[in-house]
Amino acid sequence: MAKLILVPTPIGNLEDITLRAIRILGEVDLIFAEDTRTTNRLLKHLDIQQSVHAFHAHNEHRALAGAIDKIRASSTVALVSDAGTPGVSDPGFLLIRECLKEGIEVECLPGPAALIPALVASGFPCDKFVFEGFLPHKKGRQTRLKIIAEEERTVVLYESPHRLVKCLGQIVEFMGAERKVCVARELTKIHEEFRRGTAEEVKSHYEEKPPKGEIVIVIEGKK
Ligand code: SAM
Repeated sequence: MAKLILVPTPIGNLEDITLRAIRILGEVDLIFAEDTRTTNRLLKHLDIQQSVHAFHAHNEHRALAGAIDKIRASSTVALVSDAGTPGVSDPGFLLIRECLKEGIEVECLPGPAALIPALVASGFPCDKFVFEGFLPHKKGRQTRLKIIAEEERTVVLYESPHRLVKCLGQIVEFMGAERKVCVARELTKIHEEFRRGTAEEVKSHYEEKPPKGEIVIVIEGKK
């Protein structure tokens, strides 16, 4: 019976791929990839020869029917994104839902996802948390911020480096200057950094030292 396997890939440090992920990537009939060049580089590093087909955010809706046909014609197909777990702020959800609707088995390997190391190392409670992904850039952003301001559980956001200071400014505006945050930057990479403090302190730091790289913001829940 056909099966779709979601395979998480490293978010920086290539050592973070699991032994099982390596075996599965070698064994499946084909791989759907968010960006075939990124995936081919990883496969080259792992010394795996595979057939890699594009399945990216721009074509996710259009590509669904064709993807389902390819999965049906195969025994097992892997889906990978550029980094981390497919479906988590990355393409995957529509294909997963369609597979389940079509009676195709879906499995997800455990593995890298930026939100988990950021959450756990933030020092905020991680027994209960809310993952908000990327906030909308314009329409709906303020509404989300107002909702997050009232949230009592720890909140995890993905943010781009050029919007970090703006976002921290909005946390000050909607949640108060004293709300504690942790910015996790470049996780698992050479320049990994955690900056913990009040929203105002962390904002001032990044105003002086504009950030580069990939960023997760963790916000302490409302007391
Ligand atoms: N699927 C990925 C996952 O499982 O985490 C997320 C993909 S999303 C398109 C990319 C965002 O994830 C980045 O903008 C950043 O917010 C976060 N991210 C990915 N890698 C990261 C890293 N090494 N350090 C910090 N944040 C990271």
